[in-house]
Formats: sequence, structure tokens, C-alpha cells
Amino acid sequence: MPQKIAAGNWKMNGTRASLSEIQAIAEAAQNIHCTAILCPPAHLLYSAANLPGRLAIGGQNCHHAPSGAFTGDISAAQLADCGASHVIIGHSERREGYGESDSLVRTKAQAALDSGLTPIICLGESQDQRTAGRAIEVVLTQLTGSLPDDARVIIAYEPIWAIGTGLVPTVAEITEVHDALRAQLHAIFGAAGLDISILYGGSVKPSNAQEIFAIPHVNGALVGGASLKAEDFLPIMRSLAES
Ligand code: PEP
Repeated sequence: MPQKIAAGNWKMNGTRASLSEIQAIAEAAQNIHCTAILCPPAHLLYSAANLPGRLAIGGQNCHHAPSGAFTGDISAAQLADCGASHVIIGHSERREGYGESDSLVRTKAQAALDSGLTPIICLGESQDQRTAGRAIEVVLTQLTGSLPDDARVIIAYEPIWAIGTGLVPTVAEITEVHDALRAQLHAIFGAAGLDISILYGGSVKPSNAQEIFAIPHVNGALVGGASLKAEDFLPIMRSLAES
């Protein structure tokens, strides 16, 4: 059975003053039956990982090399050294803003695994690709190209047009993509592919979480804006636990 996972992506938001918000999430998470992961900016990782409570901590990106002359980058080993257990790889903001290809995403995911981290591999079509009827083809191509030869991964389906926009695909659209991802993971990994958690991401809020988590093969969410406040993220986690 896939784990139920609520993952929060803080992007480039938050200062040390925000650690109290992370602590509130970590403490409440002890009484909510799902896996909670928070991915704060890198400068908060170590402190966040050492807060009391039950919250896994993840990075938002890593370099594919373990160390070296890569100014401004952070390696998977360095994330692990801060206490991270997960790392988001191939978020659309990195694919689009930094030209990250499927093969680079795959290499980074392998680097994460080599350092003992679980990669959260992001996929998703643009608005133009969906309008052209190419969503499934695009997402499956990204999946095949981005996966390492290892089933110890988490997949996040995040349609680019739904991220931070308040737009959410219909239940039928999410169902179609998650069904296709599950079938492809099964074809690639056999039985292990049935245990991989597939998250939905894109404008998940307390008000729409219950409906999204009722969709087959939606095993949780990757949440941006609504993960910044405990008062928004905790109800999403509770909806997931109850789904
Ligand atoms: C994200 O950044 O991965 C995301 C899903 O953002 P939001 O929830 O704000 O749409």
C-alpha cells in the first residue's frame, strides 16, 4: 500500500522567525495519521529537523554531484547532513527556470538515493500541452525519463497551470493522469510500483483537499502556499488521514 503523504513546499519563503510555524505543524502531526514532510528553504533545514514533534524534513533541490566547485548549490549529502530525509526534484519552477531536463532530474534523483534521501520527483504538463490534448503523453514521457532504476521514490503530479494559480483540474482530469502514472509505475517496477505514493500538487487548499484525496491513486499532496501556515496545512493533513 502506498503511504499517505502530505508534503509542504515553502519555496523561497520563510526566515528563522518561521520556525515557530514549523514547530506548530510538527507538534500537531504527532496526532494525525499520515506522513508529513516539510521542505523549507535550505537555511532552515537543520533547525527544522531538530524541532520536537513528528515531521520529516526535505530539501527543495539538490546538485547531482556529492561535492565540488558548484557555487551556490547544495548536495544531497549536505541535505542529509542537516537532517533531511527527502528532497523535491524536478519541480516545474526548476525545470522551467533552470532548464532541468528529464535526464538531469533522473541523475539528481539517483544522487538523492545514494545519500539516503527519498526523492519527490515532480511531473506536470503546461496549459498549452493540456489544451493540445497532450497531458498524458507529456507526463508519462517525463516519468520514464526522470525515474532512477529504483522504486524508493515519491511521484508528484503537478500541472504547471495549477501551481499557485487557484486553478485545479477536474476530478476526471486528475483521475486520468493518476491512473496512467500508476499503470506506468506498475509496468516499470512490477509489484513495487503499486506501493509508490503518487501525490497531486497545484492549489490544494483545506476547502478542496477532501475531494482530491477521494480520487483513486491520489496518495497525498504536494502543497505550496497552503503549507506556509499551520492553520491551512493541518486541515489538509487531517483530510488525508481521514481519506
Ligand atoms: C507547489 O509549489 O508545488 C505547489 C503545488 O504550489 P501551490 O500549492 O501554491 O499551488
